[in-house]
Amino acid sequence: MFNPLTILVVTVLSSAMAMAVLGSLWRAAIPGVGYWISANAVAIAALLAFALQGHGPHWLTIVAANELLAISLLLVVEGCYRFLGRRTRPWAGYAGVLAVLIGITYWTFVSPDFSARVTVVSAYHAGLYAMLAVMMLRYRPSNRPRYCYYFLAVASVLLCAGHLSRGVMYSFGMLLQTSLLQVTPGNVVFLAIGILAPPCLSIGVVMLAHDRLAERLERLANVDDLTGALSRRAFLAIGEALPGATPRTGSPVAMAIIDIDSFKAVNDHYGHAAGDQVLSHFAAFVSANLRGGDVFGRLGGEEFGVLCPATTSAEAVRLMDRLRARLASAAPGELPRGLKYTFSVGVDQHRPGESLAQLMARADGALYAAKASGRNRVMAA
Ligand code: GH3
Ligand code: MG
Ligand code: MG
Repeated sequence: MFNPLTILVVTVLSSAMAMAVLGSLWRAAIPGVGYWISANAVAIAALLAFALQGHGPHWLTIVAANELLAISLLLVVEGCYRFLGRRTRPWAGYAGVLAVLIGITYWTFVSPDFSARVTVVSAYHAGLYAMLAVMMLRYRPSNRPRYCYYFLAVASVLLCAGHLSRGVMYSFGMLLQTSLLQVTPGNVVFLAIGILAPPCLSIGVVMLAHDRLAERLERLANVDDLTGALSRRAFLAIGEALPGATPRTGSPVAMAIIDIDSFKAVNDHYGHAAGDQVLSHFAAFVSANLRGGDVFGRLGGEEFGVLCPATTSAEAVRLMDRLRARLASAAPGELPRGLKYTFSVGVDQHRPGESLAQLMARADGALYAAKASGRNRVMAA
């Protein structure tokens, strides 16, 4: 069971499975997936070349096999670079692939030395796994669950340690061996650890890709397509969590409900597309003028909500009045010539023990009053 050839065959099969799983993600157009699929294909070619050792020429079973395995890991790293949106390439990895080619060729044909070959290959793999671990920890998106990034980082650290110890043991002559497929205890142990590398990496990158899919779905559910503001659902969910926290902190939360004035007339005069432009102009304007902790969402149609933590009703009225004045003098952006619009706001502050719906109902009442008394104004309940 634990002979080197069996281990190679099992690894080939697991890489083929990984290609099939990654293939299912191909159409989702996630950056990096193409590199990860290629990495497995190249790994399979490398492993088959290794398996021919003793039956094929050295250029194939030693030089090409080692070089392909090095390229396969570089493709995994390159895929992770693309996935994380990095602008650069892993140049150190490309240099490493070249160093492996030169080293393996020299120590195969010019001055044959198995230990030297193992050392250069181990150093390369240890270096790339270290790069992978650092990249996962350093460039992990802060707004996503950490699990898959940590999984890949931990796997990379362990594989880096495995390659380092293998390289050190061979370079100090602690493991005497002259060929990869020799059945010695040390060789079998290292190969058995090595067998875990491709499935670990593949599981890790599949988890990354799935997290990217989840992120897209969450965005669809939580962000309004037209305006980029929070969807009603996400806004209310954040709102439910905010007032609940206030009795303990004792800080007030204010809510403002904003409605664009005579919006139907905008649609009627300028067309529905111009109406849409007004909505996205307004959302961009508000987002740019709110403070860090404020929460902004589209409640529906031309109606928006703002939740202001640590803000009293009077402070929220001043904030909204400032917005109103700024909009009057704001650049028209992409809006049709001559199109100006105003908005009305109803504001109130959360009271201890009440629900979000009760707070919204009062702010809505204030908005109604602002409309009734002539529009283009802010009123507190
Ligand atoms: P008021 O000042 O009283 O708020 O008047 P209003 O015209 O703004 O309000 P009303 O509720 O009468 O009309 C709102 C209009 O907004 C009706 C609807 O067709 C339009 N609307 C809702 N959603 C969208 C959208 O996504 N895009 C566009 N262009 N129009 C929308
Ligand atoms: Mg309106
Ligand atoms: Mg309305």
